[in-house]
Amino acid sequence: MTDDNQGETLPELDPSQTGLSDMTPEGFRKAGKKVIDLIADYLTDLEDYPVLAQTKPGDVRRKIPDHPPQQPESIEAILADYKQTIEPNLTHWQHPAFMGYFGITGSGPGILADAIASAVNINGMLWRTSPSATELEERVVHWLRQLMDLPRNWFGIITDTASISSLLAVATARHQVPGLLVREKGLTGRTDVPRLTLYISSQTHSSLDKAAILLGLGLDSIRRIPEDDAFCMDVTELEKAIHTDRKAGHTPFCVVATAGTTSTTSIDPLAAIGAVCRREKLWFHVDAAYGGSAAIVPELRARLEGIELADSVVVNPHKWLFVPMHLSVLYCRNGALLEDAFSLIPEYLRTTDSSKVDASDNKEEVCDFMNYGVQLGRKFRALKLWMVLRYFGAEGLQRRIREHVRIAKEFANGVDQNPWMERLAPVPLSTVCFRMTPPDLPENGENKEDYLDQLNEKAMASVNSTGKVFLSHTRLKGRFAIRLVVSNARTTEKHVLLAKELLLETSKTIDESERPQHLRQRNS
Ligand SMILES: *Cc1c(COP(=O)(O)O)cnc(C)c1O
Repeated sequence: MTDDNQGETLPELDPSQTGLSDMTPEGFRKAGKKVIDLIADYLTDLEDYPVLAQTKPGDVRRKIPDHPPQQPESIEAILADYKQTIEPNLTHWQHPAFMGYFGITGSGPGILADAIASAVNINGMLWRTSPSATELEERVVHWLRQLMDLPRNWFGIITDTASISSLLAVATARHQVPGLLVREKGLTGRTDVPRLTLYISSQTHSSLDKAAILLGLGLDSIRRIPEDDAFCMDVTELEKAIHTDRKAGHTPFCVVATAGTTSTTSIDPLAAIGAVCRREKLWFHVDAAYGGSAAIVPELRARLEGIELADSVVVNPHKWLFVPMHLSVLYCRNGALLEDAFSLIPEYLRTTDSSKVDASDNKEEVCDFMNYGVQLGRKFRALKLWMVLRYFGAEGLQRRIREHVRIAKEFANGVDQNPWMERLAPVPLSTVCFRMTPPDLPENGENKEDYLDQLNEKAMASVNSTGKVFLSHTRLKGRFAIRLVVSNARTTEKHVLLAKELLLETSKTIDESERPQHLRQRNS
């Protein structure tokens, strides 16, 4: 082979000159400093934005050209457009008064870690495709496992979301049903497959319904066990349902309990459900996407008693552990089963590195994480969990979660004492469900409940439209409930009190003008 270019000097690799390669390192350094400033400005001035985007559908689309750019553009021009068109039309999840859904925090160390992860842009599918990414992942899931006080030797793997973690868990539960051989035979075209039944509660997250759809079980396989007064799964009803299904010739295979349900953060009776699963030989999956983070606080850990009986647990550090999206962790009592369900090694990915399950002890063997789930390509997510855990330390994280629980408790107490407010669910963690109730409504007024639904829906929408705070809602026992969640690291008591003040003011105004005549007679 001859080298035709010998002696020629290569042009500087600037895309605007050569049309080739990437931004130059010097160009990157300059642009990067601008981006860091842009981020720091954003985090400084965040509270000047309305929390909920005050954008009309199509507003943004209209400002973005219909055709892709043909010529290179400067990073300055791109960032200017970002600043002018994109950033102001976001809903600001980082805003301290974001108290809807579940508040999340892209913390400083997490943001920086994400930048580094993109910079090295590794693919952690195999140990050898980035040994430190794989071994760091093993270590950080091991750290988090200890912080949550989960049993030793549980296998852990990072995924993007709880939805995917739960999908993998239920797939593994399905995989180990004796005699089913679903990996080889599939579920279709067979007459020898019984109906597999999956037990969830009326409060279970919809990702489990999606898992049933994706895994060929179908929604008809789902047994939605009723809740008790505290929105927790009724264990007696669970046992009844299992027995009924067995009698009917079905094959119960998995129970999903939730530690921190999406509506009220109720925690299912994990110990009792775990005992049923042991006795009935059913896979026990615990969805602790939100509530699992509370387990790192010693005095809150008891609320998740029984979680250690699980076969699999999902927790989302991107929810309440201040790690930016996406980062979910799936723990599995028996990692070998997960591998058994998913491992499939095409020739081009075969290595002579021996694979292993136990991440912590045997130094000779390596873990190829691609064998424990669906995706082949894996972003370097462990880095941000590592940096966040180190930057805040266990104590720093515990302090923040403790404070969120304290603020929520204070708010709940305020609700209980206010004649204009009514609490609609217990507060096991840092989410309060409540509604506004004019104290002088007649006790048994006709359509009173419907009126309260309307009043609360309007009051919440009106408060959200101020842009000062953001709240979301749920329905509890059929009734509209406002949810206030304290789980963003920037949220303080001041923001919670502002939400309360705005709600009281607004609902009083709405009630004055809109209450129907027949509900105006005072209680006598
Ligand atoms: C948020 C949440 C989910 C969904 O999490 P993703 O990571 O967005 O898929 C599932 N279950 C519970 C209990 C949750 O709180």
